[in-house]
Amino acid sequence: MRVYLDHNATTPVREEAIAAIESALRRAWGNPSSVHAEGGAARACVERAREEVAALLGAEPGEVVFTAGATESNNQVLLGLLHRGGAPGSVVSSAAEHPSVEAPLEALEAAGWRVIRVPVDGEGLLDPDTVVAALAPDTALVSLLWGNNETGVVQPMEAIAPRVRERGVPLHVDATQCVGKQPVDLRRVPADLLSLSAHKLGGPKGVGCLVARGGRAPASLLLGGPQERRRRGGTENVPGIAGLGAACALAARELPERIARHAALRDRLWNGIRAKIPGVRRNGSAERSLCNTLNVELAGAAAEVLVQALDLEGIAASTGAACASGSLHPSAVLEAMGRSPAEARSALRFSVGHGVDEAAIDRVLEVLPGLVARARAEAS
Ligand code: PMP
Repeated sequence: MRVYLDHNATTPVREEAIAAIESALRRAWGNPSSVHAEGGAARACVERAREEVAALLGAEPGEVVFTAGATESNNQVLLGLLHRGGAPGSVVSSAAEHPSVEAPLEALEAAGWRVIRVPVDGEGLLDPDTVVAALAPDTALVSLLWGNNETGVVQPMEAIAPRVRERGVPLHVDATQCVGKQPVDLRRVPADLLSLSAHKLGGPKGVGCLVARGGRAPASLLLGGPQERRRRGGTENVPGIAGLGAACALAARELPERIARHAALRDRLWNGIRAKIPGVRRNGSAERSLCNTLNVELAGAAAEVLVQALDLEGIAASTGAACASGSLHPSAVLEAMGRSPAEARSALRFSVGHGVDEAAIDRVLEVLPGLVARARAEAS
């Protein structure tokens, strides 16, 4: 039996999403832009998904622009600034962003933009006052990661968003890790732009969306297609979009139960780890955390070694971001929280999700202490 505790990297596709994808492949294979019945069936499928996504997020369907996922959505928002014309201005972001925001920020800097990276504290949290204080007259955008994929830290967006709005500056949030794990309601957190990926909430890979309040999105990265009301060119990924819609509808139904169950599993894991293994600490605020994520520092043990050893025991965990696996650089997010490179290298991330039960957690608690003792002995 495998124990999969890497749901922040990706999630298994839920049955409801598979059914929607299969149905779209079989019955909605037309081109949604075509005016005939085949096209109409595909269009209906896309529009139904748009309603499901919008309903989960407290948005209007017309505000949802389907993309190939959060990387594309984040790039569209940030690189869109390059196309707006006029002199470069400034962008306010944070020191603990996902690479799909950080890399476009660097591209903006190369084009003469000023990027203010607001620091996070030792718990990984932003101070809303510091974010607001970073706004300048030339600030064109605030772009912030809402829930951190590595640490699970959830930024106080309900405090930040209204204050950024008051100042009249558009706010973009990367909510990829939050959607399906906590309420994400744009009526309560007034962000202007929101990015997400379907595969983080039980949907398929390679599809996601950008939610653009008021329906006005930054210019499409892909030219030559009028799709998505000219906000994203290219024939729609109809089956993927159907899978995203089904995953959102499921999340809307299951959210309260998910939050309770996943938090209980995560807490069982953390309580077991700290009872059984000396020299551990939790990375990131325990109070403001995604319900499913636990990032632990196991002092003196190399997390890379532990991930491999756990895998041999049938357990999937990670050192942090899956896309950074194998990289020699320790986590920039943990570094921004003041961790030393050695501390960051001993950080292990567990993220629970659908299909994980108490027996799975207990299996981890059975094998982890021995593996940590061995990894520590190897390192010393
Ligand atoms: N933002 C966050 C917070 C993420 O966790 C991820 C996935 N690791 C992305 C963006 C990018 O998602 P995708 O690879 O699906 O485009």
